[in-house]
Amino acid sequence: MDYIVVTIFPEMFSPFWDHGIVGRAIKEGKITAGAVTPRDFTEDRHRTTDDRPFGGGMGMVMKPEPLAGTIRFAKSRLPEAQSILLTPQGRPFDQQMAVSLASLGALILVCGRYEGVDERVGESLIDLEVSVGDYVLTGGELAAMIVMDAVTRLVPGTLGGEGSAQEDSFSNGLLEYAQYTRPRIFEGQKVPEVLCSGNHKAIEAWRRENALIRTFLKRRDLLIKRGLKPEERKILQKWYRDIEQLLKDQPLSGSDPLPGGQ
Ligand code: SAM
Repeated sequence: MDYIVVTIFPEMFSPFWDHGIVGRAIKEGKITAGAVTPRDFTEDRHRTTDDRPFGGGMGMVMKPEPLAGTIRFAKSRLPEAQSILLTPQGRPFDQQMAVSLASLGALILVCGRYEGVDERVGESLIDLEVSVGDYVLTGGELAAMIVMDAVTRLVPGTLGGEGSAQEDSFSNGLLEYAQYTRPRIFEGQKVPEVLCSGNHKAIEAWRRENALIRTFLKRRDLLIKRGLKPEERKILQKWYRDIEQLLKDQPLSGSDPLPGGQ
């Protein structure tokens, strides 16, 4: 996977590209990453990349000429690349989009600043607009890092021994099961016995159930969107019966005050 980021703050990317899995992927040649700045495609001595909006209003807008020049330069370096504009008005970024972007060979990530970019740049030079969430950042750089980070860990070979993306949250429509490490007892809380049993079948079954219940409790919307497999339906029915039984067996505490309110 090859990335070029279009940004007026290329230096923001150095620490990101030097660390962790992304840093290692670059060192090992599994991905390449570079930044180009619209400031190098300006013609005035102040290297101006923004201007006032037509029609008035607050803030500045990224000028089209330097931005278009930079994107065209990036396209000349990566002719196969999809060009992505990071914008709060774009398609919401999710794991499914990360998977489909990871299957491409190259991405150009265009970061806006100020009030955004001149509309005409998006119309002629951008293949896809992507948003990282329904909130407004001051610039597209963090959004570009989010996209690069999530996509890179799906590029084959980048995760090494540090885990498999197939079991991560969202990859099968569920959240991932709970994770534990040593010590076995932390501040009085024990690791579930089965995880220390060495019984791989039982561990797998526990993890499947835990992932399902966690998703039900934390992100029911994911389950509704994805639907239930027959074995998952059975697990939820068993929990449902257990809860019903508990409700039948336990009297309501505190609901039966003594006469006279004592
Ligand atoms: N005025 C714009 C609007 O209301 O749609 C917001 C501009 S924002 C202050 C500046 C830049 O930050 C945007 O051009 C975009 O590149 C980036 N940005 C802000 N929020 C983002 C988000 N949720 N997802 C992706 N990029 C975002």
